[in-house]
Amino acid sequence: MPDFIREIVAADVAAGRHREIITRFPPEPNGYLHIGHAKSIALNFGVAAEFGGHCNLRFDDTNPEKEEQEYIDAIEADIRWLGYDWGDNLYFASDYFEQLYEWAVDLIRAGKAYIDDLSADEIREHRGTLTEPGRVSPWRDRSVGENLDLFGRMRKGEFANGSRVLRAKIDMASPNINLRDPILYRIVHATHPRTGDEWCLYPTYDFAHGQSDAIEGVTHSLCTLEFEAHRPLYDWLIDNLPVPSRPRQIEFARLNLTYTVMSKRFLLRLVNEHRVRGWDDPRMPTISGLRRRGYPAEGIRDFATGVGVAKADNVVEIQQLEYAVRNVLNRIAPRRFAVLDPIKIVIDNYPARQIETFDVPNNPEDESAGARQVEFGRELLIEREDFMEDPPPKFFRLAPGREVRLRAAYFITCESVVKDDSGKVTELHCTYDPATRGGDSADGRRPKATLHWLSAAHALPAEVRVYDHLFSTPTPGADGDLMADLNPDSEVILANAFVEPSLADVEPGTTYQFERLGYFAPDPDSATGRPVFNRALTLKDAWAKVQAQRSTSE
Ligand code: ATP
Ligand code: MG
Repeated sequence: MPDFIREIVAADVAAGRHREIITRFPPEPNGYLHIGHAKSIALNFGVAAEFGGHCNLRFDDTNPEKEEQEYIDAIEADIRWLGYDWGDNLYFASDYFEQLYEWAVDLIRAGKAYIDDLSADEIREHRGTLTEPGRVSPWRDRSVGENLDLFGRMRKGEFANGSRVLRAKIDMASPNINLRDPILYRIVHATHPRTGDEWCLYPTYDFAHGQSDAIEGVTHSLCTLEFEAHRPLYDWLIDNLPVPSRPRQIEFARLNLTYTVMSKRFLLRLVNEHRVRGWDDPRMPTISGLRRRGYPAEGIRDFATGVGVAKADNVVEIQQLEYAVRNVLNRIAPRRFAVLDPIKIVIDNYPARQIETFDVPNNPEDESAGARQVEFGRELLIEREDFMEDPPPKFFRLAPGREVRLRAAYFITCESVVKDDSGKVTELHCTYDPATRGGDSADGRRPKATLHWLSAAHALPAEVRVYDHLFSTPTPGADGDLMADLNPDSEVILANAFVEPSLADVEPGTTYQFERLGYFAPDPDSATGRPVFNRALTLKDAWAKVQAQRSTSE
């Protein structure tokens, strides 16, 4: 079923209203893109592609104090990585500054805009409330000549920040506060990442956005719900300016996710206060963070298109994102062995200097992925949690006197336990059954557990960073303080982990499944011979659990 936006576009196409459907994705380069932006990107690029049109990438760069080239570059790289292509259609609102200025002059000439000398606080006081009309500024009836003169001098840099603004002259009594003489231009003496010091006068979002849409011939300007109340102003400006086309603004609900904050201001604070490793920290909801975490673009795209487009705000469970990513990874991730918290085992009846290699399939979901060779020897590492000296009834893994399968290798039986002075198990002595080579027994014996393992002589030391949700509560900040809701265990570093030697020089870009443990991605912090892996996800499907809980509570 098409969503309401696609229905509108389809109807416009059917009515022959447009030669080509043109959408745009309009990021402000004041931070990195996040998973919410991915929804908007998937929608804008998706609609354009489905109707044979195109989607512009337009930077909404009208606020030089907060914008940086670093963000412009990161945004372009992230959109490309996500798999969307704007072709030649790269634009900047700053490219239109001259045109926008001329249109502002047109408004002044037509008596529809004026220079106001009130301060920001005074303008706020005059604005009124939802129940009270606003009050007109004493500067509202300046002559056209005086307004033109002042506007020109504002551009020349004669006045300080905040001393004057250009306002549209609409209606101070309008029930819609956005129509109470909204600000169109403000003085900002700051260097702009693209126009440098050419301007000290900048258009507001409201003045720049719709006019930029019109200049580019955008047919459907899709934005989030908070702009619904701005639409009458959007239309007023289009109606009152000699713009070359008539775009239509349509609002949809922004993506909200549990355990997640998407406010760029807050994300910037996390970065500046070093609460995370940067904008691309694997716990950040940013596209670059998710990439570093090991989420493939396909999984993010599947999620971003799968959440759908609605008119009412809602909150999506983060497990739904994890589910989409896990689905892709299960299909494509090469399998490897890793031991995160090792315990050494010695196979007493295995020849001391013998090394065997076993073929282990790279991906049971994909035969074409082939197999790799894994070395096996007398001393091995297994996961500490796969052994219990005194196991409770439902623990089927290794225990004294018990036989288990080492995946793709042999059956082994634990014969004795070595401990240090503190009582910690340091080593297990085992025997193996040579007749079970490859992991099966001719007599039909079937151990209840199959463990992953590494040859101690070949295993490569690695650092593994185990990630969990950045916040410990599904609704961060519900009590007012976002920082207080940060999850203190969102990153746990395992410095004593081991991986297969084949992972010595892996580069970010491929996410592996460490068998029985989850999905792990090489981190850019990796050094030669000392890889660092980020846990992208565990293997279990928590989304199924969320859904099950929901259906039982219904
Ligand atoms: P701000 O304007 O406060 O800096 P923003 O999140 O709106 O933050 P923009 O760069 O203006 O950031 O957003 C670019 C586009 O992405 C806009 O069209 C915006 O509506 C859309 N967008 C932003 N956040 C979400 C979200 N959570 N879900 C869907 N779309 C979003
Ligand atoms: Mg915005």
